[in-house]
Amino acid sequence: MNSVLLQTPIAYLKTVGPTRAKLLKEQLGIHTYQDLLHFFPNRYVDRTQFHHINQLEASQAEVQIVGVITQIETIPQKKGSRLVAKFLDNTGALDLVWFKGAKWIKESIKPNTPYVIFGKISVFQGRFNMAHPDMELLENYQANNRIGLQAIYPSTERLSNANMGNRFMLRAMEQLFNECGSAFEETLSASILENLKLLQRSTALFHIHFPKDAKMLSRAAARLKFEELFFIQLQLIRKNLVRKNKIKGLPFSNVGAYFNNFYNNQLPFELTNAQKRVIKEIRTDVGSNAQMNRLLQGDVGSGKTIVAVMAILFALDNGFQACLMAPTEILANQHFKGVSELLEPLGIRVALLTGSVRKSARKPLLQSLQEGELKVLIGTHALLEDTVVYKNLGLAIIDEQHRFGVAQRAKLWHKNTLPPHVLVMTATPIPRTLAMSIYGDLDISVIDELPPGRKEIKTVWRSDSHRLSVFKFIKEEILKGRQVYIVYPLINESEALDYKDLMDGYDSISRSFPAPEFQVSIVHGQMKAAAKAYEMERFVKGETQIMVATTVIEVGVNVPNASVMVIESAERFGLSQLHQLRGRVGRGAEQSFCILMSGNKVSQEGKTRLETMVASSDGFEIAEVDLKLRGPGDLMGTQQSGVLQLKIADIVKDAALLKKAREVSVTILKSDPSLDSIENKPILLAYRALVKHKNIWNYIS
Ligand code: ADP
Ligand code: MG
Repeated sequence: MNSVLLQTPIAYLKTVGPTRAKLLKEQLGIHTYQDLLHFFPNRYVDRTQFHHINQLEASQAEVQIVGVITQIETIPQKKGSRLVAKFLDNTGALDLVWFKGAKWIKESIKPNTPYVIFGKISVFQGRFNMAHPDMELLENYQANNRIGLQAIYPSTERLSNANMGNRFMLRAMEQLFNECGSAFEETLSASILENLKLLQRSTALFHIHFPKDAKMLSRAAARLKFEELFFIQLQLIRKNLVRKNKIKGLPFSNVGAYFNNFYNNQLPFELTNAQKRVIKEIRTDVGSNAQMNRLLQGDVGSGKTIVAVMAILFALDNGFQACLMAPTEILANQHFKGVSELLEPLGIRVALLTGSVRKSARKPLLQSLQEGELKVLIGTHALLEDTVVYKNLGLAIIDEQHRFGVAQRAKLWHKNTLPPHVLVMTATPIPRTLAMSIYGDLDISVIDELPPGRKEIKTVWRSDSHRLSVFKFIKEEILKGRQVYIVYPLINESEALDYKDLMDGYDSISRSFPAPEFQVSIVHGQMKAAAKAYEMERFVKGETQIMVATTVIEVGVNVPNASVMVIESAERFGLSQLHQLRGRVGRGAEQSFCILMSGNKVSQEGKTRLETMVASSDGFEIAEVDLKLRGPGDLMGTQQSGVLQLKIADIVKDAALLKKAREVSVTILKSDPSLDSIENKPILLAYRALVKHKNIWNYIS
């Protein structure tokens, strides 16, 4: 068919040519005919509607008017000049304005001849005007039969200045279909098309650019969105299957003495059903012959640590070592304490390795690790150093995964001949749709239940003008024996102003809560690790009642006696961060509180965030709101956003299609793992082309 033709450079398309081709490449990334074909409109306007000038409102986004041009003049301005034309219909007048391309326009306009103009209306010096309108002679407009929905393509200022606005895009698209015909290679199997009642690819491509009506448009969009999501899922799931088939795992076939002893005699509490389920999932994974690669999601306080400990016991029971890596020293310390407490009664030695461990202590530690005498190592990034060599690492647990790059995750691998099982734990709930898109290659476990008896954290939002009453409340809580966090935003480590805010805050708190009655700790990123640890320690021991901090305390810190979390300038924090911070309290038996302080002026989005925090304590619910507010790219950080630069689908709005795409991918790969049936031939060909051109793994791992 025309798949070869579609690789033609865009410069060869009539109506484009080399100069414009250069702009198309630069501005829109359109290099070939195919790129243009896959350049989808971002919206449509109903061109059956005409407006009258005397009914215009400045708020109307885009309008279409029939009328004539009676007068054209060039008006000098500070820089250059602008061209202004008077445009009349039989109800009134408005100005058409051009800042660029005046000469060409002046020459080509036919005065007193009916035109259809289309564009955005604005008001300047009390008059309606339309800048750089789309114009077409009424005669041509009628002849072209361009009635119904019209595509509007994403554009840039440079393109419209070069007269390459929407009208140009439409003409180019028409030309493309003229030259290529409208039969394009099908990429889905006949049975998918039939089962899901999807349009043929060719039909969909035509109607996405030139929709006959709203119904065809929505069917065209659905087909193309499905296709996009389907091929992503196919790659993700395929990779997962390949891993399971090819990457042999270390078989943990025994459930032995360590695990049984712990489970029967040492469990500090009864596990929740969710914890039990997840432990079972892990046990099945490590017992199979494939490498485990599992993401464990569980809200703050849902009890992931004990799950990690039991996974470690699986490794030890089978003669392997295990490590646990945390993103900060504070957190590594805390894990070290928590895990040691649980494992030492079983006679298992646990060691800690962080940047602050002295050379003299490091040497024997590394040696016993290499000899296999040391079985459990906990630490920070220090675990990734080349000097850390295991005898036989069987399990790597990574806590708070989103802080580690995927590349770092992989670094643990080549320390071994066979890759260890990997358990990635995260307290930032990721909406299912997003998890499916990004972590399709990981298996996912969810702890969706909190241990019993937790009291809901009371959350309020207060403006700065309530500071006195907030301080009064804090004082009362402290006098009851509780401890308080006060967190300041530190969006940018190098932001001097943020530090000033923090230090000012610290001063003012120290004044309002004077020694010796009150003791205030402070922890921030510019302090030395030892100083941080010292301050943390004082707070953990209850020697200080207030901890003033930046978000370094965000992850994982556990002080059950702390029952009040005050977040300063809360409107500056993202939702997931707010949720993480709030999770630092509510860990003990007492009623806990979270007070979100904000300025008096808060943006609409900021309001939504703060209101969401007040209304909900469910991390997954909050994550959904976050996804809607910020979009998937931002949510995951730039590092992983590449995967979510979808052409047409939207993982928030098209969640149902995404789910379908995933199901269909799983079904197909189950029955035809290498896609070599005749039925699946179109899929295989499209898949190969896709992998060749743009391997999704380039931006995931
Ligand atoms: P997170 O998932 O945030 O890492 P932790 O593992 O730190 O949570 O657990 C939070 C607190 O809840 C700890 O004090 C832990 O001992 C306690 N906990 C965990 N599971 C249970 C349970 N099933 N019953 C009672 N308390 C539990
Ligand atoms: Mg934790």
